[in-house]
Amino acid sequence: MSQTSSSPKLRILIIGGVAGGASAAARARRVNAQAEIIVLEKGPYISFANCGLPYHIGGDIAKRESLLVATPELFHQRFRIDIRTMQEATAIDRNGKNVTVKNHNTGETYSLPYDKLIIATGSEPLRPPFYPTQAPNAFQLWTLTDLDRVMSYLKAHSVKRVSVVGAGFVGLETVEQLQRRGIAVELLERAPQVLGQLDREMALPIQNELTRHGVKVYVNAELTKFEFDGERIVALELADGSKIETDMVLIGAGIRPRVELAQAAGIELGKRGVKVNEFMQTNDPDVYAVGDIVEYTHRVTGLPQLLPLAGPANRSGRVAGTHAASGKSEPMGTVLGTSIVRVFDLTAACTGFSERVCKLNNIPCRSVIIQAAHHASYFPGAKNLTLKLIYAPDSGKILGASAIGAEGVDKRMDIIATAMQFDGTVYDLADLDLAYAPPYGSAKDPVHMAAFAACNDLQEWPQIVEPDFDLEGLQVVDVRTAKERDALPLPNAIGIPVDEIAARWQELDNTRPTVVVCHSGKRAHVAACWLKGLGFQDVKNLSGGMSIRKLLIT
Ligand code: FAD
Repeated sequence: MSQTSSSPKLRILIIGGVAGGASAAARARRVNAQAEIIVLEKGPYISFANCGLPYHIGGDIAKRESLLVATPELFHQRFRIDIRTMQEATAIDRNGKNVTVKNHNTGETYSLPYDKLIIATGSEPLRPPFYPTQAPNAFQLWTLTDLDRVMSYLKAHSVKRVSVVGAGFVGLETVEQLQRRGIAVELLERAPQVLGQLDREMALPIQNELTRHGVKVYVNAELTKFEFDGERIVALELADGSKIETDMVLIGAGIRPRVELAQAAGIELGKRGVKVNEFMQTNDPDVYAVGDIVEYTHRVTGLPQLLPLAGPANRSGRVAGTHAASGKSEPMGTVLGTSIVRVFDLTAACTGFSERVCKLNNIPCRSVIIQAAHHASYFPGAKNLTLKLIYAPDSGKILGASAIGAEGVDKRMDIIATAMQFDGTVYDLADLDLAYAPPYGSAKDPVHMAAFAACNDLQEWPQIVEPDFDLEGLQVVDVRTAKERDALPLPNAIGIPVDEIAARWQELDNTRPTVVVCHSGKRAHVAACWLKGLGFQDVKNLSGGMSIRKLLIT
């Protein structure tokens, strides 16, 4: 305990009472029983499960109350924390160590002194400048109050068609839930693909899954205008002039950190968020910032970056709460942006950087894509899983990964994220000692398989080329069966099934640059090894095989 009951009470004031703020408050109390801890929350609720909001729409989370993770009463009873809802911090005077508070219940304004201040004001959804705030059928989904509006509108109106604008994680969760209510959904995304965090070939199966479930997906679709009947939106107009009629609109098109309060108090900002040190202290050591408003250190680049996710918000709240209450704490670690989303029968997840983001940041990288069963293929219920691994060409250090599949995606992503947290390489991944029994995995887990493929690539046994590699002028050997080749032809390829390579390799020219292709890359690897071992000078394997190439080259 850092204080005795006779010393003046340390007052810790926290602005924002959800993920980062509530974590900071509860942690501060656990390390300091004497401190006075006050949480200001401008909304009516604290510590609600924002991540669970979409799942109430379709009924996965049946009871609204389940979203209220903790109440002010519980915070008082268990922690003696003074939770003040409907109280908005409007200004911070760092010299006087005071916060000005507007009480939205009474309209009064008062000032509250602090010894340590933790700012956890979160982020807010971006809306197009022409967003009609007065429209009764335009919504965002960010708070419990937003959810209540959505639910009461759905109850009171016969909503047949909803347009969701923005195909990020929250947008897709919302689409899935609306569809489960039997509502026709149109999904609009300005970018050329859904889920911009993923590389294109990993996002396309998710787009196909949406379409398979009846969602109309529009990519490269820039919303330019709403059309109204009175105040009600009746259609959306896109940049290409097309029109989508609608009963209701849900906007989930990105977010921005709420930094104005901190900024006005002279708290230093980085590019977009608040600058903090490893203890979440700002340029004023008595003022901390946590959650969506801060720039964390990204593990891959070592550079500050916004990463508006619940995990980092909770962990940074814990660090700030500990440090503010006791003067010391373990430092906040780096972040990777590990994320996951369920889209109907598929799950997509990613960690670290995609290949596209590596290239945008001039980070040299190579990648492999493998497909494998999520558990032993002979055990009933095995489902296909696609895993992409991105790594440094020199050291093999893992830079990122993504996965899609019906089962086991979460486990693989968390394994790779953990390896990255310890600066792991693809060689480390190949060597991981993972739990295995047929119902759970394979003796060579998909993580191992991806790592083996990456090690082969780095050791040129053989090297890999990207799924959309230009095959013009090369000797292309297609080692799929005749039936597979007929179903999905690869023009100008020489067809030799993998089991005939050992007998028929003389039909090929061992001096020509050669790319071997199969369905997923696995049989092609065997064939390419044969050819390399038999003296072919330049043999490569097409990463991910035809199953991935067909997504990229239509
Ligand atoms: P918040 O949790 O947003 O809390 C900020 C609080 O501060 C708000 O309640 C706000 O009212 C209050 N506040 C702001 N200004 C003031 C002021 N001046 N005075 C008083 N109070 C103020 N992340 C994941 O990792 N996984 C998910 O599956 C996931 N799903 C999500 C789904 C939805 C619908 C939403 C909205 C978010 C989701 N997130 C998810 C993101 C995650 O919830 C956020 O990253 C996290 O809540 C950020 O925590 P925070 O404390 O910074 O901000």
